Amino acid sequence: MSNLAYLYHDDCLLHDMAQDHPECPARISAIEDRMRMAHIFDFVRHYEAPPATRRQLARVHDLKYVDKILNYGGSHEEFEHSYLDPDTIITPQTPQSAIRSAGAGVYATDLVMEGKARAAFCNVRPPGHHAVRNGAMGFCFFNNIAVAASHAIHEHSLRRVAILDFDVHHGNGTEDIFHDDPRVLFGSTFQHPLYPFSGADSSNEHIINMPLPAGTNGEKFRAALTEHWFPAVDKFKPEMLFISAGFDGHYDDEMSSFRLHAEDYVWATQQMLAMADKHCNGRIVSMLEGGYELHSLARSVVAHIKILMRLG
Ligand SMILES: [Zn+2]
Repeated sequence: MSNLAYLYHDDCLLHDMAQDHPECPARISAIEDRMRMAHIFDFVRHYEAPPATRRQLARVHDLKYVDKILNYGGSHEEFEHSYLDPDTIITPQTPQSAIRSAGAGVYATDLVMEGKARAAFCNVRPPGHHAVRNGAMGFCFFNNIAVAASHAIHEHSLRRVAILDFDVHHGNGTEDIFHDDPRVLFGSTFQHPLYPFSGADSSNEHIINMPLPAGTNGEKFRAALTEHWFPAVDKFKPEMLFISAGFDGHYDDEMSSFRLHAEDYVWATQQMLAMADKHCNGRIVSMLEGGYELHSLARSVVAHIKILMRLG
């Protein structure tokens, strides 16, 4: 049995925006199927993601917005849904999925901080890194990684945490939440210009944005991380490392024009693990963000998990 906690909940499959929406329940199942094929499913420590509480969510979101999401469906017919932005559809089942997604990160943080696991991976959806303090956007409702990082600061008295986001889109929600909070180092690599068209000029000392052009390959991606992220992490000396793990920069993923492969995610994870070993006693919580081409998503996530399990 490895020392990796694996968090999941069946309720994460309930939120379903439309038959052809790329952010679909099959993403989660594809990852689990691939974990079984790779014979790692039985070697991670399984935990059910609990629901995040209103108080945990309100640390990073306006309470009025939290209640709007939590109460959605109460007065609606079951088939009703509405658009929160052109790509983000809330249904009466969405709150159940969204609170388990956010709750996974909170519980993962507790498990790692209490030494019950060395690292954790949360196979959950909806994703979170586009959700801003007072709103949903880009398939995201609650900012899962921000809720987890904030929990580490408030419940475990950490003074410095780092969030590294290698999704191909700028983690604008996470930046929105922590832009003026020097306790959080936030690094985001992203294709630019690309949705949400932010981040190119909003960096500060603890917000490390790395806009990269369409066509970025593994070599350029690795060089950017080496040049910008890792020195910043070394200087910051975080007590815990959070990963917004998005795999939509894969060559096969039509969501972007990056040309990354599973080996690049392996490399990035190895580097982040080394950073965590150096500064935070190996404490890592990684949460699924994007990644929409099911085969490359599943392959890349399994490669990422194997590194977190210290198999590579
Ligand atoms: Zn993305």
